[in-house]
Amino acid sequence: MFLLSMRVTIIGIDGLDYDIVEALGLRNLQQDVCGKLSIPRECYREIGKEVYSPWTPLCWMSIVTGQVPPEELRQEKKRVYSNEGVDWVRRRFGKYLGFMRGKRRFLMKYGVELSKYKMVETPFIRDMNTIFDLADKSIDFNIPAYSEGYTLRPFGTEAEGLEHLELFDREDKLVMQFTRSILSRNPDYNLFMVYMRAIDHYGHQKFGTRDLFNRYKLMDLFIHEIKQKIDGLLLICSDHGFQQLEDTKTGGRHSDHAFYSLSQSIDVEMDSLLDIYPLVKKAMEI
Ligand SMILES: [Zn+2]
Repeated sequence: MFLLSMRVTIIGIDGLDYDIVEALGLRNLQQDVCGKLSIPRECYREIGKEVYSPWTPLCWMSIVTGQVPPEELRQEKKRVYSNEGVDWVRRRFGKYLGFMRGKRRFLMKYGVELSKYKMVETPFIRDMNTIFDLADKSIDFNIPAYSEGYTLRPFGTEAEGLEHLELFDREDKLVMQFTRSILSRNPDYNLFMVYMRAIDHYGHQKFGTRDLFNRYKLMDLFIHEIKQKIDGLLLICSDHGFQQLEDTKTGGRHSDHAFYSLSQSIDVEMDSLLDIYPLVKKAMEI
């Protein structure tokens, strides 16, 4: 039943802002159809006293499921599990435990307690239908709240020694390499989605600066490069945009609109993050 479906490729870019893309006239990111998406209030978390902000894992959860995050995940606090014995092992062999990160589903399947591994817990999609269930052949890479088994960050002391932006630039480069290599092999897929996070960190630290604009241009060039290799629909989307953080020079904070663009028009009304799921569904039925 999937034989005639349109192929869908999604490039998820954390914090890509519609107004900045438009101001810089980045045609590759804008594609043929482009707009802002609202963010469901269930994706917000309180980050200061009565200050609410879209929260990245919850936004991506809405993007890939087409539903607002369930209550229990919205309340889930960032927790760091600790265990004395394991702490000692970690101090001695820290980097060798790096492979355990991102393997939460695998661990849960075998009944391994997360608390033994001192991992940071963030909301994770369980028992919900996702866009990946719509496709018979899908590839996901690095998707917040969904993908497992990939950790591109160096673990432990090496990571601590690196500047954050350098770290995320490195991670983005790896994702770009992965994407190029997948596309150049012309693999058999209905849905392919990757995610990059550096732009979000530039938004927080370099808002309104040339560094941020150059990073946007780099992303535009990347899209230019890969779009010739993509047949079917290319969707580019973000989880929220950015606005200037009050009383700072180059600080930014999450804004209330996300970004999307499409390589061709699809007959689905696009108003909110929740409309991406029906869009992907519709495209795959064409
Ligand atoms: Zn984000």
